[in-house]
Amino acid sequence: MRTQIVIIGSGPSGLLLGQLLHHSGIDAVVLDRATHEHILGRVRAGVLEEGTVALMEQCEAAQRLHAEGLVHDGFSLAFDGVLHRIDLAGLTDGKCVTVYGQTELTRDLMEQRARNGGVSYYQAENAQPHGFDGASPHVTFQHDGVEHRIDCDFIVGCDGFHGVSRKSVPQDAIRTFERVYPFGWLGALAEVPPVDPELIYAHHERGFALCSMRSRSRSRYYIQCGIDERAEDWSDVRFWDELRRRLPEQDAARVTVGETFEKSIVPLRSFVAEPMRFGRLFLVGDAAHIVPPTGAKGLNLAVSDVHYLFEGLREFYAEKSHAGIDAYSQRALSRVWKAVRFSWSMTMLLHRFPDEGCFGAKMQEAELNYLVQSRAATTAMAENYVGLPF
Ligand SMILES: Cc1cc2nc3c(=O)[nH]c(=O)nc-3n(C[C@H](O)[C@H](O)[C@H](O)COP(=O)(O)OP(=O)(O)OC[C@H]3O[C@@H](n4cnc5c(N)ncnc54)[C@H](O)[C@@H]3O)c2cc1C
Repeated sequence: MRTQIVIIGSGPSGLLLGQLLHHSGIDAVVLDRATHEHILGRVRAGVLEEGTVALMEQCEAAQRLHAEGLVHDGFSLAFDGVLHRIDLAGLTDGKCVTVYGQTELTRDLMEQRARNGGVSYYQAENAQPHGFDGASPHVTFQHDGVEHRIDCDFIVGCDGFHGVSRKSVPQDAIRTFERVYPFGWLGALAEVPPVDPELIYAHHERGFALCSMRSRSRSRYYIQCGIDERAEDWSDVRFWDELRRRLPEQDAARVTVGETFEKSIVPLRSFVAEPMRFGRLFLVGDAAHIVPPTGAKGLNLAVSDVHYLFEGLREFYAEKSHAGIDAYSQRALSRVWKAVRFSWSMTMLLHRFPDEGCFGAKMQEAELNYLVQSRAATTAMAENYVGLPF
């Protein structure tokens, strides 16, 4: 079999790139080792930048997002028992974010791909990119017990942090940068109205907490926890008690408790692989970089990579120009590092770091106070939160 592009990974970045290519008349085959039910069962990001919404519109998959997504023009920081609102729209000439679950966005793209007759292989085992350092790239995999080989012009690794694409690159051709944080996030969903119509990021001596949501009736809450803890050890009573302790009293009193589901612990890490292109193989999204979720950037960063790569591939096929694909790695990484910096700074500001002691805690307090008193500092935070331009 032959196609123009093979995309390994059917998460948001692989699906979005597949749709954009389809709309430009470029053929792509998408393959994923998981079932589509498994992919749609993963509860992950939920805050979309305007650039992400615009790309969903560009590939005509934004109808449900506009109907059901919640547009937020602010969020709150909670510390010292008080909420401080960050007026995103007021500080950024009207820019907003949209709260819409990654699961829903992935579903919309998957359904759109199926309607367009795009070729996808789920449960594709042992996918392996080959020949990307030469002129004959191809991908091999097994599906339903049959060996497959797809020849192509380019291979795109959209297969996440644990995927095969980055691992296929020779060690001496890639450089990685990493920070692993000494804690995790315990997250839970609950079919209860959110405590506040906007997100609350809480800094507290017991640890960080985030009050988020997926809809007006479904809440998504997170609390900072030890990296070695187990979600099973957190009963609902313990979870709600701990969450409320980390919020200002009047907000804690407004929390509606209920049965939780999808309770899980995620580690927090910053990671970047450079470059993001190796001959005819490109890395996109979590395959190339990971950020702690504190800045709500992981999914949005995957989308900006898709934008740069799509523009390069479109130019390559429409104008026979290599300029866009040659510039891909440098353009993507320039934005990646800014988002890595923002996510790292939000993480350092809001979490409790046991090893930093009293001095570290005082520095966080001083920075939070400065932040809410300085329009310049709040503007910088808002500008990064709504998303830097592509
Ligand atoms: C548990 C968790 C919670 C998160 N929470 C947040 C959050 O709250 N906010 C936020 O902004 N971001 C969050 N993120 C980050 C965000 O979800 C990711 O940045 C986003 O999913 C990146 O999309 P992607 O398409 O690049 O990769 P992924 O979504 O990881 O998709 C990769 C796809 O590749 C497939 N794959 C992997 N290996 C192979 C292989 N060998 N062969 C074929 N297919 C393969 C996988 O099955 C998967 O479908 C979270 C991430 C995780 C893991």
